[in-house]
Amino acid sequence: MTYHALARKYRPSTFEEMVGQEHVTGTLRAALRNGKLSHAYLFSGPRGCGKTTVARLLAKALNCAVGAADLPCGVCDSCKGIAAGTWLDVLEIDAASHTGVDNIRELRDMAQYSPTKGQCRVFIIDEVHMLSKGAFNALLKILEEPPARVFFFFATTEPNRIPRTILSRCQRFDFRLLTRDELTARLEEIVATEGMTIDPGALRLVVSQAEGSMRDAQSLLDQVLAACEGAVTEQAVVDLFGLVQSDLFRELNDAILTHDAAAALRIADRVAGAGQSLDDFAAQLVGNLRNLMLLRIDPALAAGISLPEEQISVLRGQAEGFAAQDLLVLLERATRGFERIHRSTQPRVVLEALLVELALLESRVLLSDLVRRLDALGVVGAPATGGGNPRSAGKSTPSRSAPATGGAHTTSGHAAARVSAAPAPPRVAEAIGPEDLPTVSAGGEVFQAAAACTVSGWAGFIEAMLATSPGIAACLMEGIPAERDDRIALTYPVEKEFQLQRLRQDLALLETEARTHLGRKLVLELVDGDHQARTDHREDLRRAVAPTENEALDNERRKDATLDSLVDLIDGEAIPDAEREDWLRRPGGDSAS
Ligand SMILES: [Zn+2]
Repeated sequence: MTYHALARKYRPSTFEEMVGQEHVTGTLRAALRNGKLSHAYLFSGPRGCGKTTVARLLAKALNCAVGAADLPCGVCDSCKGIAAGTWLDVLEIDAASHTGVDNIRELRDMAQYSPTKGQCRVFIIDEVHMLSKGAFNALLKILEEPPARVFFFFATTEPNRIPRTILSRCQRFDFRLLTRDELTARLEEIVATEGMTIDPGALRLVVSQAEGSMRDAQSLLDQVLAACEGAVTEQAVVDLFGLVQSDLFRELNDAILTHDAAAALRIADRVAGAGQSLDDFAAQLVGNLRNLMLLRIDPALAAGISLPEEQISVLRGQAEGFAAQDLLVLLERATRGFERIHRSTQPRVVLEALLVELALLESRVLLSDLVRRLDALGVVGAPATGGGNPRSAGKSTPSRSAPATGGAHTTSGHAAARVSAAPAPPRVAEAIGPEDLPTVSAGGEVFQAAAACTVSGWAGFIEAMLATSPGIAACLMEGIPAERDDRIALTYPVEKEFQLQRLRQDLALLETEARTHLGRKLVLELVDGDHQARTDHREDLRRAVAPTENEALDNERRKDATLDSLVDLIDGEAIPDAEREDWLRRPGGDSAS
């Protein structure tokens, strides 16, 4: 069953009736009065907050011969026809179902003819970001030279998906979510007009479910009014929508704070038992964590939260119990969980797993914070390099470790003990030292084999080749480089002869590239026997040119002894700073709109 009756019935027929978006309507009405309306406008913003309504009002204003320039009468033929969607000069297209270039070509042809009855031809394209590339190109041609008396109003929830060429030819207005007050006032009017009454508590519930969308608010109200006779009570709304979400999330937040997985599971049980959509619940869970994060970062951000004040103050208290970075991780896991629940054939199991995961998530303090705090205490901060790293320490033999860091490879030490004052040799050299590697004969000369990463420029060379000739790069990675003066010998064991032959086919290219990137001559050689270091070597190289996330962290740890010892100290997995910033930049997640 769909509920659109109220939304249709109470759709504003004049600018005065519009709720909110005054920053948009004010400017547009002034343009109408001055006859300065542009040919193309882009209205962006969340769904259900008035974009197409404003577009229709403009269409009416342009065509109404009765009212003043910015005051369509609402009763003349064109006003009525436009409201009913039957006025031929005003064409409304849903780009989601008309994405093709042909649709736009048709539209372009239509635009060439004079309006049939009215004064202006208006094209309203909803969800315009859905148009295909070809359709956008066709559209661009009209926008470049729009015929007189032709106007385009585009609406979109995703302006970032619209080509710049189009954007640059439109005047853009950003619509915002409606405030609770705006929604409340409008719903009160509607309830009164319908001859009903509604409890303040019930109204508040409806408004908070609508999350700033007028269309959602009206369709929820529709359901409520249909289910109640005369008077709407809070209990009736609770019964209708299943649960009091605020209580549920307050309990869930507590369960996460106290790492109470059993309590979290009981909540999953209640949600599933109430027959609530698990999809919706997971989406609200993301929203709930987002709210906590906003409040944790800055309580003043409460303005961006569409909840009653008393719920916000509860959330504010709970937010204080979380570290902001923990909330980021929780939010990330919840977002991932939401996607999984959405796709799963067993959403309940996935939800349960998600809630347990959230409850059991170990608190992690961002390394940078810890560094700062420990720095302040004078615990760490010595500018030491090198240092131990258990994950890669296996490669170095104890006898070869530098004395200064010899004791630092154990995981039991504390940061203070582990950071030595004396600089240690760089880790890579430590991992595979020259004496570990055999000498190789190539071109009649003896070369000292080397760990790939110690051959100056080798990793960079491979990286460059990966970008331009991945096939060649893959073969290069199989070889083991050895250096002598101005040459690098790349040797291959017999079983890798194929790779060697492959390289020989492109010898000229290889030589040029080697000269450019390495500044040295490359000698290719097939050798007998197998070198112990070969497998390590290839792995080292891959690590250098294409590190996994953990290896990238390891690389950072190698460069920064303080960071390294801290990772050991808290025995933690770090969130890379880049990822953290990503999360902070994210405007509140999808569920908010
Ligand atoms: Zn009119």
